[in-house]
Amino acid sequence: MDFDLTPEQELLRKTARDFADREIAPVARDYDRNEQFPWDIVEKMKPLGFLGAPIPEEYGGMGLDAVSYCLVLEELARADSSVRSIVSVNCSLVGTTIAKWGTEEQKQTWLPKISSGEALGCFGLTEPGSGSDAASLRSSARRDGDDWILNGTKMFITNGTVAGLAIIMAQTEPSLGSKGIAAFLVPTTTPGFAANEIHGKLGLRASSTAELVLEDVRVPNSTMLGGIGDGMKVALSALDNGRVGLGASCVGLAQACLDAALVYSKQREQFGKPIASFQLIQEMLSDMFVEVEAARLLVWRAAALKDKGVKNTLEASVAKFYASEAAVKCANLAIQVHGGYGYIDEYPVGKYLRDARVTTLYEGTSQVQKLIIGRHLTGINAFS
Ligand SMILES: Cc1cc2nc3c(=O)[nH]c(=O)nc-3n(C[C@H](O)[C@H](O)[C@H](O)COP(=O)(O)OP(=O)(O)OC[C@H]3O[C@@H](n4cnc5c(N)ncnc54)[C@H](O)[C@@H]3O)c2cc1C
Repeated sequence: MDFDLTPEQELLRKTARDFADREIAPVARDYDRNEQFPWDIVEKMKPLGFLGAPIPEEYGGMGLDAVSYCLVLEELARADSSVRSIVSVNCSLVGTTIAKWGTEEQKQTWLPKISSGEALGCFGLTEPGSGSDAASLRSSARRDGDDWILNGTKMFITNGTVAGLAIIMAQTEPSLGSKGIAAFLVPTTTPGFAANEIHGKLGLRASSTAELVLEDVRVPNSTMLGGIGDGMKVALSALDNGRVGLGASCVGLAQACLDAALVYSKQREQFGKPIASFQLIQEMLSDMFVEVEAARLLVWRAAALKDKGVKNTLEASVAKFYASEAAVKCANLAIQVHGGYGYIDEYPVGKYLRDARVTTLYEGTSQVQKLIIGRHLTGINAFS
């Protein structure tokens, strides 16, 4: 067992950290306050290749292994979770999903655009009536000659209003249940496709979260990703990828909480001493440190299994569950260390809590992760 990063991974981490410190952290608060999508940061990320970090080089990506990709996401998330979410959805849920399931033509058509940022990707699984129970989705795909006609509504779709491509899961034959679901690669310029921004989010305010409305969206059969009935497999494989990346993102966010709390606790004086000298403050700092370390190791293990080609559904769930709960806990503790100043947005820790809060909800809630872990332990599937 080797916990050392390679020299290439160390360099990549430094590159991502320097970029995040220089280009993202100084402006993150303003984008958050203004609920503004950070297009100029997206532009600056393009030449670095982060938008295609894990996508194979032959299709324009960086071809990073899973551990290296996690390092990039951790550093981006340390600076800003909204920017991180643009990259992680583009890469984990869309790019690598096309790389795994796509035909050669689909890969050639879309992966260079996704990797370069020419077309950002979004992933449309959740619907108003189906979240955790994703397989009960109601969006429909009706065959019409060589085409499919898509109808339905998708909810809470990250990158929805800024994407050029949407992966849409839809039901081809309701009587087949989950075995009737198919995934489609839908250009967002297709007539009948609309994306409506959802405002008023608690956190991730600089990211785009949208309701997608599909009204008689006509796409050729060649846009189907996998076959009829593969839609849930496509979605679940995307989520296996996504959960490891999201775990890494939570580690970055939790690390940011610890960093901020450490700096503040050494500056702030009470009773004639820096508050860092009080044992109860040190207890909070050490609790945060342990959470960050444990979460990072769980994420790296899940990523390393993927790099070995070993199925990592369980480990991805464990990592996502632990790291997201750790991010919320660390954000809460960071506010506590800041006292009243943690409650106003002069300091970043309030934003960290708002951004952390969604991580136990999306890409499978904490309860869903526990059911996945419970299914592994008992052999009993609580979802069916
Ligand atoms: C900011 C944001 C971005 C998102 N981005 C995307 C995206 O890009 N693409 C996408 O497809 N979706 C996205 N989502 C949707 C997200 O994945 C869902 O919100 C999530 O899966 C939960 O679904 P739900 O909101 O319908 O909650 P529900 O499924 O209704 O859950 C409500 C509560 O019931 C619990 N629950 C549900 N079933 C069970 C059970 N069997 N046992 C015990 N408890 C249970 C849940 O844990 C939760 O506490 C996003 C959501 C947000 C908020």
